[in-house]
Amino acid sequence: MHDLDPTDECSVPNQHSTAHPIAVQRPRRIGILLNGLDGKANTVALRFLILEMNRIQRTFEYEFLPFERDDLLETLRSQMRLNRTDIKSQTADFHQRYRAYLAGLNKDFLLKEAPPDYFIVVCLATFDDDYYTTRKDRVSVIALGNWERHMAPPSIVEFLLTLIVREAVASVSPLLGGSVHLGTKGCLCDFTPQLDDARFKVLNAFVCGHCANALSTDKLPQLVEELQFVLSKKWLGLTSKVGTPAAIALKLGHDLFATKGLQPTFWEQALKTLQEEGTKQILTLIGAVVGAVLLVWFGIKGS
Ligand SMILES: [Zn+2]
Repeated sequence: MHDLDPTDECSVPNQHSTAHPIAVQRPRRIGILLNGLDGKANTVALRFLILEMNRIQRTFEYEFLPFERDDLLETLRSQMRLNRTDIKSQTADFHQRYRAYLAGLNKDFLLKEAPPDYFIVVCLATFDDDYYTTRKDRVSVIALGNWERHMAPPSIVEFLLTLIVREAVASVSPLLGGSVHLGTKGCLCDFTPQLDDARFKVLNAFVCGHCANALSTDKLPQLVEELQFVLSKKWLGLTSKVGTPAAIALKLGHDLFATKGLQPTFWEQALKTLQEEGTKQILTLIGAVVGAVLLVWFGIKGS
């Protein structure tokens, strides 16, 4: 399972690169398409968590956009192992027709803001070379088909949040647009040739010295601090604390700390119910004891 390869178009900062450094005050807009996840994931909770990243940093602005039937999107819904080179050969045309489709919707609804110029397609496909992301022509594809439950922690949702951030970085930093370093450092840009190593880039929330220098050279020095905050996922908070993203995600039906995959297994759901019922029973017991004490107290006072 690999991240990217050096042959990805955006791996080399030249005139064909998909990455363009941007001014800090204008966030890089990223359109996200959850392709083929309906019915297989809690997409409401997923969209909520991705959009929460808009609130906690300033360099990127993620947005969800409508999409209709499209040849590339249909291919990426396939259960077959897909040839990654073949997918990359289709991204330029996809980018063109998808932006035209969005521009048409804008025109129909008299909307003012132009569509974003960079898209991330999230799907459950599997590439035949075991890479799990690829990008070309301002389109990134995150293929989660290779994720396996034994890789948790991190959960697949944590994994996805990190991969989206990785693609966003590639969209603004020419120097970090392709594969960066062989060493597994727990850095966002780890190449991760070993399956189990991929988890470290998610769990460690780290940007290494090489990558920090690259961002500085690409005139994005502020991004290092932002990335480390976003990657730390402390902003998710606790499911037990009202108003935190984790608590809201739980209300939307996804327990970030109990669910490893896109949906809870029977046992994860059973454990969650047991915990909830256990808490309810303890509260009921406390209520009964307090009631009994009060009854006795008033009984003594009244006698
Ligand atoms: Zn690095």
